[in-house]
Amino acid sequence: MEGPLKPAGWIVERLRITHEGVPVLLGMECAECGEVMFPKSLLCYQCASEQVTERIFLNPKGKIWSFTIVYESYGNVIGLNLPYPVAFVELEEGVFVQTVLVGFENKLPEIGLEVAITFLPVGSVGDVKEVVYAFKPIG
Ligand SMILES: [Zn+2]
Repeated sequence: MEGPLKPAGWIVERLRITHEGVPVLLGMECAECGEVMFPKSLLCYQCASEQVTERIFLNPKGKIWSFTIVYESYGNVIGLNLPYPVAFVELEEGVFVQTVLVGFENKLPEIGLEVAITFLPVGSVGDVKEVVYAFKPIG
């Protein structure tokens, strides 16, 4: 994607853009039990420890765990043409990411299909493009 990018305001705690211009999701890891979480949580999902402040970059690839098709959208901030698919993608860490799927304009997603993170532009401020994350088929 050309030009400078920045995460849209509502996902600024979930998405980072590397110096190479690659999207990465920010996860949390429990210092007590090692549970990896997404998005940010004040307590460990597994052991309720508060020692979850360490941020880690999550794997950029995963598999579609479940999906549905959005036919109506209230306040379409993402700006996609309806209908479009959304999914839970399971990353290698065992983390589930709720996400829009792109690249499925002419076909249905499939459970278990491998997908990778990508940018989805949602607007611009001056010459800076605001982006959110989405997942797309690999290959
Ligand atoms: Zn824990």
